[in-house]
This record gives sequence, structure tokens and C-alpha cells, in this order.
Amino acid sequence: MKVTKVEIRLASVDRSKTRLRAFASVVIDDCLKINNIRVIEEKDKRLFISLLSVEQRVKCSSCNKKILPTDKYCSFCGASHVQNFAEQKFKNLVQFITPAISDEVKEKVVVEYKKQVNNI
Ligand SMILES: [Zn+2]
Repeated sequence: MKVTKVEIRLASVDRSKTRLRAFASVVIDDCLKINNIRVIEEKDKRLFISLLSVEQRVKCSSCNKKILPTDKYCSFCGASHVQNFAEQKFKNLVQFITPAISDEVKEKVVVEYKKQVNNI
């Protein structure tokens, strides 16, 4: 498998308030496109990528409807959940199976991102 196309869209955000720098799309073997890959900058300026993920929901202990783990109150029944759910949990929708394709995607996304940043 090879990355055959990379598209970068720079994030229009206040860089001092977030580590998000861009969104990327990659095409694998001209037949599979993965959108919404986030390019994140660490405090030490290293870049990493994060694949599309969804926030997992949890069941309200009172009404059993699904709510966000960070909700302090159930939006359906109003029950308090302050003590129950400490942190957000995300589930990847896309996952690389081999390190080779993971490394290639990361490398090509970072190279393309740096090209765009240098052209500004
Ligand atoms: Zn509820």
C-alpha cells in the first residue's frame, strides 16, 4: 500500500490556544481516501497526526440514554453525573494495521504540511 495523494487544509485557529495545526486527507493506492486527519504540534514543536475518531458515549445510570462522558448532567433526565465520568474517551474510526503504512502517512502528511506552512 502506498499513499498516492495528500491534501492539507491549515487550521484557522489561534495557534497560542490550541495545538491543532491542520487537517489532512490522504488517498491510499488511488482508491481509499481518509479525511479529517488532524495535524497536531507538540509543545516541543514535534508534529504528530491523529486519525478520525468519535467521542464514545456512556449510559446515564438513571434513564439509560447515551450521553457524553464529560456531561455533568444528563441532557435527557437531568440526573447528576459529576462523579461518574472523569475523562473523555475517543474511539478511532480508522486504524492502520501495519507500522509501514502508518509511518508513510505520517511522513507524507508532515512533509506536505511543512510545504504549505513555508509558502505562507
Ligand atoms: Zn438520564
